[in-house]
Amino acid sequence: MKRFHPIFFIGCLVINIGLLVAFILVSVSASVVAAQEIPDRHDDYCAEYDDLAPVIELKGEDNINFVANTREYVDEGVNIIDYCNTELETISNVDSKTPGQYRVKYIAKDQMGNETILRRYVRVIPEWNGTIYLTFDDGPGIYTDALLDVLARYNVKATFFVTGAGDDATILREYQEGHAIALHTWSHDYSYVYSSVDNYFADLSMISERVKRITGEETKMIRFPGGSSNTVSARYDGGSHIMSTLAREVERRGYTYFDWNISSGDAGGTNNTNEVYSRVVNNLFEGGSSVVLQHDVKGFSVDAVASIIEYGLSHGYVFEKLTPSSFTAHHGINN
Ligand SMILES: [Zn+2]
Repeated sequence: MKRFHPIFFIGCLVINIGLLVAFILVSVSASVVAAQEIPDRHDDYCAEYDDLAPVIELKGEDNINFVANTREYVDEGVNIIDYCNTELETISNVDSKTPGQYRVKYIAKDQMGNETILRRYVRVIPEWNGTIYLTFDDGPGIYTDALLDVLARYNVKATFFVTGAGDDATILREYQEGHAIALHTWSHDYSYVYSSVDNYFADLSMISERVKRITGEETKMIRFPGGSSNTVSARYDGGSHIMSTLAREVERRGYTYFDWNISSGDAGGTNNTNEVYSRVVNNLFEGGSSVVLQHDVKGFSVDAVASIIEYGLSHGYVFEKLTPSSFTAHHGINN
């Protein structure tokens, strides 16, 4: 066993007093500091060899929306994986009564001084006024990285219905930054995908495999080119009512298809950033779900996103990414 020189204990005492003062200061400012000791599991190993930083895993989501004054925010905490006397410090400034963006910081430090830091963001909103699902079709493209920068700046998660276009690295970034990756079709060629059910699924499996190869995960969330209500498909389906068949068939195969209930108009209605903004914010569903259709291959549309987010956040909306159990915003099928 190691023996410690008395100076070490005096040093520890000074540090502890320092920590105590810090603890009191932080507590007084309505913050929470908790220290939790992870029990020893492997003392000899730890004293001699430990050069691995602890691993921290969040319990629960990395972004939390919390409606002010409903209750006291209780953090779900983290799991720590480390063998060597890891201490966890949690620093939170979440004020459950005051709307704003807050951060919970977890610092895990083992006895050798290896340290890992992880953060969780908690947005306290004034009053829930509705949920906005920002969705972007047809990418990735040359504007997608700028869009991801905006989403990161506001810490908002979106959904990307991707195609065979663009760089794998962009899809990987979308995925790594916590957005939902969903399938739009590989080719986005109406004359091909809507000329037969087999063509549609052959094309869908190509984009499905691309996403799986890049992210390691299979997604079952899809959006038809033109939406389920498109009538363009009738030009190519030889009168077979292909949209009715596909809508049934994708669900039978375990997919969930999504349409939208707010069109930004960026697919032909307008090419003006201000108009994209006003078409979205003037049509939001108060107290409900708004699924917004935009295209990240259109620069003027991407340019509207920061203002749309600012409007939403300042009016009590929360932004979420789609999941297989989200509101689907299904349209009526025309053929
Ligand atoms: Zn599209």
